[in-house]
Amino acid sequence: MRLSQMLFVTLRDDPADAEIPSHKLLLRAGYIRRIGSGVYAYLPLMWRVLQKVSQIVREEMNAAGGQECLLPQLQPADLWKESGRWDTYTKAEGIMFALKDRRDQEQALGPTHEEVITAIARDMIRSYRQVPQLLYQIQTKFRDEIRPRFGLMRGREFIMKDAYSFNVDEESLEKTYQDMHTAYSNILRRSGLAFRSVQADSGAIGGSASQEFMVLAEAGEDEVLYTEDGQYAANVEKAVSLPPDAETSAFTSYEKRETPGTETIEKLCKFLKCSPTQIVKNVLYQTNFDNGTTVLVLVSIRGDQEVNDVKLQNELTKLAPKYGAKTVIKLAVPDAEAQGKWANQPLPLGYIAPDVADDYIKSVKDVAPRFLRLVDKTAVDLKNFVTGANEAGYHVVAANWDEQFKLPELSVDIRKARPGDRAIHNPEQTLQSARGIEVGHIFQLGTTYSIAMGATYTNEQGEEKPLLMGCYGVGVSRLAQAAVEQSYDKDGIIWPVAIAPYHAIVTIPNINDTQQVEIAEKLYAQLNQAGIETLLDDRNERAGVKFKDADLIGIPYRIVTGRAIANGKVEVVERKSRNSQEIAIADVVSTLKQWIHQSVNSQQ
Ligand code: ATP
Ligand code: MG
Repeated sequence: MRLSQMLFVTLRDDPADAEIPSHKLLLRAGYIRRIGSGVYAYLPLMWRVLQKVSQIVREEMNAAGGQECLLPQLQPADLWKESGRWDTYTKAEGIMFALKDRRDQEQALGPTHEEVITAIARDMIRSYRQVPQLLYQIQTKFRDEIRPRFGLMRGREFIMKDAYSFNVDEESLEKTYQDMHTAYSNILRRSGLAFRSVQADSGAIGGSASQEFMVLAEAGEDEVLYTEDGQYAANVEKAVSLPPDAETSAFTSYEKRETPGTETIEKLCKFLKCSPTQIVKNVLYQTNFDNGTTVLVLVSIRGDQEVNDVKLQNELTKLAPKYGAKTVIKLAVPDAEAQGKWANQPLPLGYIAPDVADDYIKSVKDVAPRFLRLVDKTAVDLKNFVTGANEAGYHVVAANWDEQFKLPELSVDIRKARPGDRAIHNPEQTLQSARGIEVGHIFQLGTTYSIAMGATYTNEQGEEKPLLMGCYGVGVSRLAQAAVEQSYDKDGIIWPVAIAPYHAIVTIPNINDTQQVEIAEKLYAQLNQAGIETLLDDRNERAGVKFKDADLIGIPYRIVTGRAIANGKVEVVERKSRNSQEIAIADVVSTLKQWIHQSVNSQQ
């Protein structure tokens, strides 16, 4: 491709609405254009990158036995009602674009395809002889994200490879899952990315294994906790650890103390000269279930620990049936306005005890009349602890479970693991923290969808059984941007060779010099002919502008037909290292061929 003929516009300055380097660079270098919130046009250079990533994904999926297909993006609401996810996706998370067609039928734009694929399996798979099956597609997904941001990282329209497997038993599912783990590792390695696979939250479906593939980068939205020995890595949402030991309480006889102005743990510790590990803090949450019921939740947890909202939400989802509900729609710490809707009188916030009276809750329709009391494991074994006295400005000291307070029936792990905590598999290892960009997620779904939608098969004994399922996603467009986030410098993008839009760019410093032009044209033709994807910068611009643009767009090798041509040579610069060398014109094609081959194969 000749730059003089390409729709190629670079920006000198950082666009105002871009926050992270990769987003700025892709905009500046003319790879993408914003069309609307979370909606981008992939311009020709970007499209080439996306196709390269897709091709690597395709090769690895095919190698693992995947069959490529293409499922509809327009999906009837009925399928989502069958699986029970219509309300969750349109109301609770509100992440699905839903619409009505001219016949007044509800439709949605696919955020994911479990429902569609399960409907297909239900129709087509009858016998154990037809499984296992692994289908995948590479396609645009739609999600009405609350906070679209960072360009392609969190779009409302983005490209995903999603795959679904159907298996007869756990063993077969486990094998497909491991195959996908290998395929994903290969995809990321071949794309030239530094990554880590980590244990991930499986949501309330629970039990099933799930792993995320994280590209390590400061701008990542996820926090990963891992140990140096390589034995443990998990998303902070899922991570478990040993909490620090609690200090022995300094208080020995139970009493109520005046503790003015101590509504935070820090102030309380200062005032009472005690450790936060001696405190039971009681945190109030409000949850809304899908059947319209509001439940007030009181979590008792050790003072030095924080509640992990994801773990809490999973516990609440498990408890949903108790309230005649299926799932949690919302979980939040109620603000004054929310409290006003159900509280009889102002709560003693900052001084709440584990036994705060249910009388605070007005009798209102759809509000459960009692607090749902949960205790985190860290608070269960505390002796002589400090906690609120249910009265502003007062705490009690030397309290004990089953003496002054009844231990809540439900003791659960809902604490947030933190860097520095000791690891469970080996307490000598401490958890370290890293930031990551989630580019892939593999998941054992089990029978959740097949049971809900009636996707069964007949086993060897002639019995009808639900199919086991797995799902496996890669954010193709997110991965491409993550590569930039991991590889750039002050001058621009540094693409890994395997996913660069072009391998090489031939730059003509002065297009009025016929010899420069002639040699460049010849090399341009020879390189492309040899399969080296090459751009020709034949624009009528100053050499400096051309060099800057070549750096900005990040093409791995730049070939300059400058002064060296007098000696039958050209200058070849590697973008990554900035190493520059003069190479005989006749050797350019073979040299580049070898470098590109080496660079792509070193990642194989
Ligand atoms: P996240 O937690 O980042 O929202 P997710 O758990 O919703 O991701 P999945 O539903 O597992 O993601 O989708 C599979 C993959 O699709 C993700 O691993 C990610 O790479 C990509 N992806 C998800 N949402 C977006 C988005 N809004 N924009 C770009 N890529 C996305
Ligand atoms: Mg999401």
